[in-house]
Amino acid sequence: MAKIVYLRTDKNGTKYYANYTCPRCGGAGGSDKWAFTGWTCYECGGTGERPTPVIEKEYTPEYRAKLDERARKRAEAKRAKQVEEFNNNRLAIAEKYGFNPEGKIYVVTGNTYEIREELREAGAKYRGGINWYFLEKQDRYPTIELSYEECLNIYPEYGTMSWKDLTEVQAVLNSKIPTEEDPSQYVGQVGERLDLVVTFKKRSTYEIPSYAGWGTDTVGINVFRDDAGNCFIWKSTSAFFNIAEGSQVRLRGTVKEHSDYKGTKQTILQRCKVGAVKL
Ligand SMILES: [Zn+2]
Repeated sequence: MAKIVYLRTDKNGTKYYANYTCPRCGGAGGSDKWAFTGWTCYECGGTGERPTPVIEKEYTPEYRAKLDERARKRAEAKRAKQVEEFNNNRLAIAEKYGFNPEGKIYVVTGNTYEIREELREAGAKYRGGINWYFLEKQDRYPTIELSYEECLNIYPEYGTMSWKDLTEVQAVLNSKIPTEEDPSQYVGQVGERLDLVVTFKKRSTYEIPSYAGWGTDTVGINVFRDDAGNCFIWKSTSAFFNIAEGSQVRLRGTVKEHSDYKGTKQTILQRCKVGAVKL
């Protein structure tokens, strides 16, 4: 049988016991499991006791709670210290992820694939999603500055950082690329007949209920630009001409209105004629 001897109770109400129970046989002195080798426990020789007891403590619930609270506060203080230490070392940690000592990188914009060898030789590093980047701002290449906070997920409570999803980083990068302003300006006055040389950019179409009362009609939306970048739109069910996109054409039409479409100033034409450019 288990042999446990009460020793004393301290001022916190904690009771101390000396546990003499043999750890192998649990105090039984032997076991049927060991029948083949003789029933008796090797550890204690059949006494069921160990020579040196294990001292066990039994706390009062109140004192147990007090100890738990102390342990919790210790752990909390330790965690707070780790977070503080992490926060004091953020830039050094970010440097391990490839950022400069200020926590920045400079991502090369434009078509970097064409000049990748040149960039490599210039010391640029490569990372999928943002492609080529430098640790310093460049004179020779247009760059966008990204900070480590924009690129990395930061977990002070775990003392670590990790790269964000590439799509997330790309979105940040794209939001920082200055968008070139559309050069298009309004042309002519409403009602004015224009005779233009323009480039036919593209045609899109959509369906409307037919005038005939059944079926649908197809409306063509033709986009043209002149050399100055001014945008012209001709939208009509008869706006179908057989000229390849990208061709220069002579466009004659009457200004119907001027309207802004997603930041592009468009001159809307009607009653148009599209023909070959006279050379
Ligand atoms: Zn034993």
